[in-house]
Amino acid sequence: MNGMDVRTLRVELGDRSYPIHIGPALLSRHPELLFDAVRGSQALVLSDANVAPLYLSFVRPGLSARSSAELVIPPGEREKTLDRFAEVMHAFAGMRASRDVTLIALGGGVVGDLGGFAAACWMRGVRFVQVPTTLLAMVDSSVGGKTAVDLPEGKNLVGAFHQPSAVIIDTDTLSTLPDRELRAGLAEVVKYGAIFDAAFFAWLEAHAESLLHRDAAALAEAIERSCRHKADVVARDETEQGDRALLNFGHTFGHAIETLGGYELVLHGEAVAIGMVCAARLSARSGRAPAADTERLVSLLRRLGLPTDTPGHLDRHALLDAMRLDKKNRSGALRLILWNGIGAARIVDGVGDGDVLKAFDA
Ligand code: ADP
Ligand code: ZN
Repeated sequence: MNGMDVRTLRVELGDRSYPIHIGPALLSRHPELLFDAVRGSQALVLSDANVAPLYLSFVRPGLSARSSAELVIPPGEREKTLDRFAEVMHAFAGMRASRDVTLIALGGGVVGDLGGFAAACWMRGVRFVQVPTTLLAMVDSSVGGKTAVDLPEGKNLVGAFHQPSAVIIDTDTLSTLPDRELRAGLAEVVKYGAIFDAAFFAWLEAHAESLLHRDAAALAEAIERSCRHKADVVARDETEQGDRALLNFGHTFGHAIETLGGYELVLHGEAVAIGMVCAARLSARSGRAPAADTERLVSLLRRLGLPTDTPGHLDRHALLDAMRLDKKNRSGALRLILWNGIGAARIVDGVGDGDVLKAFDA
């Protein structure tokens, strides 16, 4: 083991720049990565009840000699609440955490978003390290500093931009991830090809089966290429004034499907898969993109075991109404991310209701 299999990318944000380390068995073979990211003498590890029994012991060596505490919450999107946020605040208070405490978020997007928001708020902001254990968190939510909790009224309504100090992606943790969660994460991987990178999209077409069968090299490559795109767009546009919005491809449709379908029924990645197809269809029908690209997208997503049809029982007008509540809209008219074809997403304002309604169905 010479460390050559650790690949490190950087998110360039001036004095808030940070590394993304990717590789197999990083936690056990390279405890120094975590050790170096935790600067102060105190650490709080946040995890959930599925992940903690599997991987909490792997982060302890990286914390040696620090005074550390652990907080384990129940798993699931329903736990991304203000109540759980308050629990993290009390955990900090209980350990008499100072401003040099570091929070370590070990888990999927729920733990990462909640932990990041807690780190943004404790004493107006302390360091945190992302140790993502779902594919979705590895390629998307752990990078870029969007942190939040949900309200009953909607997802991610309370949050802050707060960048992590490091992202440590131990690809071995994917070995225990349920198949359905892995496939949901692949939807976000496909998204990077769809919006930025036709060559990556073609690579995914060539490696779909390897990825589904968890071929380690293929997964590492997909994660690295995805993180590269995420890191670049975040460096260009940290607070989403411009082209970071392209990452929302498929998401305005998708969020509506999640909201109306129920978060238990459709996973986020699954809703994004369906939403990307809706966006591609709308693009083709309005003459922006070739219809053949919609077909390629549908076929790749299906090969990855992802849904591509809007659930038939969801009322199309209710979906449209849900889309209007999207955070991205500016004063009334719908703002959508469409594409000119694979690898070329565009922000489009003022899309007509009729076009949106038709896009739900083939
Ligand atoms: P996401 O990362 O998709 O936003 P969650 O944080 O809710 O979602 O994680 C999805 C589910 O997978 C949760 O039930 C979580 O406990 C579980 N989980 C996360 N990482 C792993 C892992 N490496 N192995 C097994 N289960 C995991
Ligand atoms: Zn997403």
